[in-house]
Amino acid sequence: MITTTQLTKRYGGILAVDGVSLDVQPGDIYGFLGANGSGKTTTVRMVLGLVLATSGSVDLLGRRMPRAGRAVLPRVGALVEGPAAYGHLSGRANLALLDSSGTGGTRRSRSTRIDAVLEQVGLAAVGRRPVKAYSLGMRQRLGLAAALLRQPELLVLDEPTNGLDPQGIREIRELIQGLHRRGTTVFLSSHLLAEVEQLCTRVGVLDRGRLVLQDSLASLQRPTGRTVVHTPDHERAHVLLDGRVEHREGERLIVRGADPAALNALLVADGVRVRELGPERRTLEQVVLAATEHPDHQVGVS
Ligand code: ATP
Repeated sequence: MITTTQLTKRYGGILAVDGVSLDVQPGDIYGFLGANGSGKTTTVRMVLGLVLATSGSVDLLGRRMPRAGRAVLPRVGALVEGPAAYGHLSGRANLALLDSSGTGGTRRSRSTRIDAVLEQVGLAAVGRRPVKAYSLGMRQRLGLAAALLRQPELLVLDEPTNGLDPQGIREIRELIQGLHRRGTTVFLSSHLLAEVEQLCTRVGVLDRGRLVLQDSLASLQRPTGRTVVHTPDHERAHVLLDGRVEHREGERLIVRGADPAALNALLVADGVRVRELGPERRTLEQVVLAATEHPDHQVGVS
């Protein structure tokens, strides 16, 4: 869906994007994670042909960008930083303007399509109000509605939940999940770890212009081969496990070995009370901090 090879953008002395090779597959909800200023927006703009790369290449839906823009962009829905709209016109009228530029169909079918996307993003009730009366969150949703007009195969969203309240964030998340279930591939940039962790199937992490990590969320969060045990009898457990305890914090022990059932049986047989026990997994935050290697600088954490 999106393949970039050694994509690089230099602004004078600033290397904004440095040799990034992205691989977004059909069916992904791909989370493109990075701190502010790490180069996400510049990358997204190059993918869409809005900014020319200094070097490297972009293939979008299998076609070389920006050359194939006219052919492929109608199949891609995009929301890139601050959706633009005419404030004096209604949300509906803004969508109608966008829709009249080449999506085809009769006036009536276009009108039905606009109603459908307004409904989808939760703006049906305010579609006839002028956009200048919209909140930031409503404008963001209008931008999403515009991206959905052409029923895209691929949706590219730059920080889609920027400026939304928790309820709005949840609605957008559910909307993205619904679209994904119906077959849309989604590429979204975000600086919010929790958002990516809850929504995405694959993750790419950008750190100061470089892609330092790209993998499926499932494999990033696979068990580490250690077991976490919560027990009030940690001293006894420590003795019993004879050197297998790698770390203890209060009642929480990290034990070498990935057979929780056997470990539980061993502890319980010896009368050690077990409150909780299970395989250890790294959180996305731990994975990202390890990959970015400057824990003092809280990359992507919020
Ligand atoms: P944010 O989340 O804050 O939007 P980002 O990860 O999207 O950040 P970019 O906006 O791509 O990051 O910026 C990456 C770097 O490139 C920054 O140092 C930025 O100052 C610089 N940059 C971006 N656009 C330009 C430009 N048009 N001219 C000069 N420098 C630029």
